[in-house]
Amino acid sequence: MKKIILGLALFGFTINQAQTDPKLYDIIDAVSEERLRNDVKTLADFGTRHTLSDTLSDTRGIGAARRWIKSEFDKISKDCGDCLEVFYQQDLVEKGRNQRIVKDVMVVNVVAIQRGTKYPNRFIIMSGDIDSRVSDPTDFTSDSPGANDNASGMAGAIEAARVLSKYKFDSSIIYVGLSGEEQGLFGGQGLAKYAQDNNWDIVGILNNDMIGNIKGVDGVIDNRTFRIFSEPVPANESERARRARRFYGGEVDGISRQLARYVHKTVKTYMPEMNPMMVYRLDRFGRGGHHRPFNDVGFAGIRIMEAHENYTQQHQDIRTEDGIDYGDTFEHVNFPYCKKLTAVNAINLASIASAPPAPKNVGIGGIVQPSAKFSWDKVDGAVGYKIYWRDTTSPTWDNSRYVGDVSEYTLDGIVVDNFFFGVAAVGKDGHESLVTFPNKIIR
Ligand SMILES: [Zn+2]
Repeated sequence: MKKIILGLALFGFTINQAQTDPKLYDIIDAVSEERLRNDVKTLADFGTRHTLSDTLSDTRGIGAARRWIKSEFDKISKDCGDCLEVFYQQDLVEKGRNQRIVKDVMVVNVVAIQRGTKYPNRFIIMSGDIDSRVSDPTDFTSDSPGANDNASGMAGAIEAARVLSKYKFDSSIIYVGLSGEEQGLFGGQGLAKYAQDNNWDIVGILNNDMIGNIKGVDGVIDNRTFRIFSEPVPANESERARRARRFYGGEVDGISRQLARYVHKTVKTYMPEMNPMMVYRLDRFGRGGHHRPFNDVGFAGIRIMEAHENYTQQHQDIRTEDGIDYGDTFEHVNFPYCKKLTAVNAINLASIASAPPAPKNVGIGGIVQPSAKFSWDKVDGAVGYKIYWRDTTSPTWDNSRYVGDVSEYTLDGIVVDNFFFGVAAVGKDGHESLVTFPNKIIR
């Protein structure tokens, strides 16, 4: 009996000690501002990366840009003993599909997969965009450097691959450059479909779109804050799920929102100098991004981006008008900030890829009882589970209890009516899965 108690005490100690993983601090430090600067410069120097632009030139247009991105991923792979599977994923989009597709075009994404050692078919994705645009979305010849929108996100994905390819992870990580964003989110649609066709088990996508501007059009300068956009509940949820929510809650607890909370928490833990701002909406007001096609088919996905946009430097012909310089040019990108947001991605990719899968079949009960009850299916690779709860008005999982390697638990004295709850799986080094919001009722 004594032995068992000692064992449990030691076990509790181990879990407490593993609250932070030193590897993640190393990852933050390894992200290079200089490499990001060089890569954004290289991408901007392709003149235009418009989806419909030239594909034959070696120096100008989206063809040259995507070949360069592929060659960078290939180089990274060579440096890690071929640890990346690098390929083009492409779909033909025909003229007239919408007003911005003025000729047939092959929309080509560049994909690099770092295969997980334990869960090879389980993926966490980081995306940036290859393509750029100017004032007229169908103008595929004018100079369109797209330095911040979105060479910054693209460079971030390449740099994350450089840093994380030095490590091995349980789950697979995908670094991807998507095309066709400005023409109607076609690259994301293509890859989401590819993921479905290949039965990829996707934890989520961290879509990076504009991660390098710190000076807002309103004059605010802020190199600490960034936004995490997430939709409230899946767009393709069932009618049954929608109806159940009226009685059991979950209006702000969809899978994308749990991913947003995960990123928020990881950043608060490992990068306390940053100020992550969760925004409770799919994207900016009336505007889109490449996480959406993934959300459309039921995958979790969020948009990570700067907090203060500058509209004189987005989707603009390069010109000077009334003393204002318009255009998304290289000199406006702030690389210390771009480095920080790249690190935000890298530590979350590393943490999720190190964690066991989230528990499924999470049941909750406790109607007219003084305690809340939970049950879940155990997960391969978990050493234990954590029950999270929060006030119904709080955006973050403020309370938690580690309950060990069990598949049911009762939280004594906690009334089910007054909080929202979720369950996460905990891995051997303390890395946690995303929180699963209960999806069934138990007695
Ligand atoms: Zn854009």
